[in-house]
Amino acid sequence: MPLTATREDVRSLVDGLNFAEKVERSLGLIQQAYSEFGDGLVVANSLGKDSMAVWHLAKRVSPHIRNFIVTTRFKPRETVSFMNELVAQYAGLKVFKNDQPISDRLYATDPDKCCDILKVQPTRRAIEEMNVTCWVTGLRSTEGRTRTDFQEVEERDKGLIKLNPILIWHEREIWQYLALNRVPVNPLYAKGYRSLGCAPCTRITSDPDERSGRWVGTSKCGGECGIHTRPLKPDYQI
Ligand code: SF4
Repeated sequence: MPLTATREDVRSLVDGLNFAEKVERSLGLIQQAYSEFGDGLVVANSLGKDSMAVWHLAKRVSPHIRNFIVTTRFKPRETVSFMNELVAQYAGLKVFKNDQPISDRLYATDPDKCCDILKVQPTRRAIEEMNVTCWVTGLRSTEGRTRTDFQEVEERDKGLIKLNPILIWHEREIWQYLALNRVPVNPLYAKGYRSLGCAPCTRITSDPDERSGRWVGTSKCGGECGIHTRPLKPDYQI
C-alpha cells in the first residue's frame, strides 16, 4: 500500500497508545516509507532530542538511510560541538548552512526573514541537492500551539512527502527512548533548555509549553522557523 497523506485523529493516538506501541508505529512508518522511497528518504536532523530519536529509529530500519543537518551562524557553541562530534562519527552526514551576509540583528528586527534566509533556504537546498522525495522530521504534536495540526504523513509540497514518525510521542517518551537506547543528546538540555534553536532566539523558561522559550518577546514567540510551514520545493514563490 503506498504511503499517502493521512487525516488521522492525532490526539487520540497521542493518548491512546503506550510507549512500546508508539515505537513500533514509528518504526513501521519509517519502514513503509523506506520501502517506497528508498534513497529518496532522508532524515532532517536539527540536533535536538527529537531529531536524535528519529535518526536512531531510522538507523534501526536501515543504517543506509541518509540524513542532513541545517545549521546557522547563530547556533550555540554547545550545539556546534555536538554537531561536529556527530559529523566526525558519521561520514555521510551532510551539513547545510547559508553564509550570505545579512543585516546586523536581523533576528531581532525581522526574525521571520532571518529564519527564512538561514534555515528555510538551506533546507530547500538540502532537499534539492540530495534528491529528497520523502523527508523525515522530529516534529511532535504536543510541543506547542503551532504543532497541533500536523499529520504523520503529509504532502505540503507537491512531489515531496513529509513523514513525521514521532508526531504522537510525548516529551517524556522521547527521553525514555533516548535513555533506553543510550542515544547521545545536545548538552544544552542539562542546563534546562527544552527546545533548542539559535542562541539569540532561545531561552530557558518554566512555561508548560515546550517551545515557549523560542523567539521570546517577538510575534514569533513559541512559533516556527518556517521549515514546517513554508514551501520547500525549488519552484516555490517567496
Ligand atoms: S532562530 Fe533566530 S537567529 Fe536563528 S535563523 Fe531564526 S531568527 Fe535567525
